[in-house]
Amino acid sequence: MTERFNGSFTQQEPIPEAAIAAAVDVMREGRLHRYNTGPGEVAPTALLEQEFAATVGAQYCLAVASGGYAMATALRALGVGHGDKVLSNAFTLAPVPGAIAAVGAQPVFVGVTESLTIDLDDLEAKLDQAQVLLLSHMRGHICDMDRLMAMCDGAGVKVIEDCAHTMGAAWNGVPSGRHGAIGCYSCQTYKHVNSGEGGFLVTDDMHLAAKAIMMSGSYMLFERHLAGPPKEAFDQIKYETPNISGRMDNLRAAILRPQVTDLATQCARWNERYYALETGLRDTPGLSIVERPAQETIVGSSIQFLLLDWAGSAVQEVIKRCGARGVELKWFGAPEPVAFTSRYDSWRYAPSTPMAASDRVLAGVVDMRVPLTFSLEDCALIARIIRAEVSAVYQGQGGAQA
Ligand SMILES: *Cc1c(COP(=O)(O)O)cnc(C)c1O
Repeated sequence: MTERFNGSFTQQEPIPEAAIAAAVDVMREGRLHRYNTGPGEVAPTALLEQEFAATVGAQYCLAVASGGYAMATALRALGVGHGDKVLSNAFTLAPVPGAIAAVGAQPVFVGVTESLTIDLDDLEAKLDQAQVLLLSHMRGHICDMDRLMAMCDGAGVKVIEDCAHTMGAAWNGVPSGRHGAIGCYSCQTYKHVNSGEGGFLVTDDMHLAAKAIMMSGSYMLFERHLAGPPKEAFDQIKYETPNISGRMDNLRAAILRPQVTDLATQCARWNERYYALETGLRDTPGLSIVERPAQETIVGSSIQFLLLDWAGSAVQEVIKRCGARGVELKWFGAPEPVAFTSRYDSWRYAPSTPMAASDRVLAGVVDMRVPLTFSLEDCALIARIIRAEVSAVYQGQGGAQA
C-alpha cells in the first residue's frame, strides 16, 4: 500500500485558552489602544514588551504592527534613508528587501552557502559598500555570528538582525537578535508566536530605542513604556522624530503574553519534530541534509534539504510526486515564484548581478513547514514519503544530474 499524509501544512495550533481569556478581557474593557490606560493602569502591550525583553535579555523592547515594520523602523533609527545602500541576504523573504525599499534605500545582495547561511567571504568582499547590514536568519539558519560580528565591527558596519525565523534560537548561547545593534522579530501567524500580525524590535542602545518608540507613534506618551529608555533619551528627539504609526495594540499583546511565556516549550516541541524528519531523511541517495553547527540552538519550525545539481525537471518531479501523497514541499529554484518570493532575482525593483554559487544552491533548496499540529508519527511518515519519492526519481534519472 502506498502511504499518504492527510494533515495540513498550514494548520496552526489554537491560541492558548489563557490568551483567549486575556483577549476577551481587553475587548470587554474597550481599551484596545496601547496608550488608552486609566490612572495607575498598565497596558498589556507595555507588559508584553517587558516580558519579551527579559526573554531575550535585552535592555529595551518595542512591540509593533509587523516584522516588516520593525525592520524598516530599525533602518530609519540607524539613519538609513533615500539612496543609501544596505547589505542583505540574497536568500530571504520579500519583507526584507521590502523594508530596505520602504526607506528609499537599495539592497546590496550577499550570497548564500550550502549551509543556507549568508556567505561570509562574499560579505567581507562587499563590506565597504554600505554602513548597515540587514541580516536575515532565513529559515532559522544562523551563520557564524562570532566571525560576522568581528568583521562588521571591524568595518564599522551596524547589524540589524531579522529573527522572523529565529525567535527562541541562539548562537553560542546568545539569543538570536542580541548580536547586532537591533533585533527584529515577527509575531505573524506563520512564525513562532501567533497574533495574526505583529512584531518586536529589541536593542540595548537607548538612543535607537527612543527613536523607534517615537517613530512607532507614541506621541508624548513614551513614559508609559516599561521596556523603554529613561525620559532624558527623548528630550531632544521628541521634537525631531516623525511619527510613522506602527504600534501594536492591546488585543494582540494580550494574545501574545501567554505565548511568550510558553516559547521555550514550543521551541522544544518544534525541535522534536525537526529531528524526527531529519533522522528519517538522512542517507537518502541524492539528498543533502543541511547540517546544523554545534554552536547553533535551533528552532525547527521548518526544514530544508538540498537536491544539489539536480535537473530542474527532476526536482519538479519530486515536488509533484510528494504533493500527490499529501506532502507539500516548496522549491526555491522554480523559474516563476509560487506563493511567495525568496530569492534576489525575484525582486526586480532592486538591481542585482547574477551570483553563480548562490544560484546553484538556490536551484536545489527544497523547503517544508513543520507546524506543531504534526505528531512525531506524522513526521516519520512524511520523511518516509520524501525518501521514497526522492530515491525513485534519483534512480529513474540515473542520478538526476543536471
Ligand atoms: C515573515 C518574515 C518577516 C516579517 O514578516 P511580517 O509579515 O512583516 O511580520 C521577515 N523576514 C522573514 C525572513 C520572514 O519570513
